[in-house]
Amino acid sequence: MKCPFCGKSDTQVKDSRDTIDESAVRRRRECAECGGRFTTFERVQLQELTVVKKNGERVPFDREKLLRSINLAVSKCGIQSCEVEKLVEDIRRELESGTVFEICSKDIGEKVMDRLIKINKVAYIRFASVYKDFKEVKDFEEFVSRISS
Ligand SMILES: [Zn+2]
Repeated sequence: MKCPFCGKSDTQVKDSRDTIDESAVRRRRECAECGGRFTTFERVQLQELTVVKKNGERVPFDREKLLRSINLAVSKCGIQSCEVEKLVEDIRRELESGTVFEICSKDIGEKVMDRLIKINKVAYIRFASVYKDFKEVKDFEEFVSRISS
């Protein structure tokens, strides 16, 4: 595993343990070159998933990227990062145990929203506003009035 700081491939595993829910192995690594420390996760991957983006581009499903984009959208909404982590893990499992190998980014967005609304309404609205790309205040108000009625 390459060091994310200096790019040398000589990194050592210092500690290795299961995550709390035992769905992954968390490894602490240290770079012999620069002393940089980082963490990697090893997870079961049941099947390769491809995400079809709005522009038709196909990219491998990236769990970390999804996690980052949700966290970015819902920061300061009072939602716990472990809740977001769990949500992403739920979606990943659902997708990987399904029979569809390709999924539209739009459908992933819908799945995120379906779950967020049950966890935290503010986070849901924030995510939806980023995801749905509201251009005008009017769009946003309409959306909010629909979910709060
Ligand atoms: Zn390094």
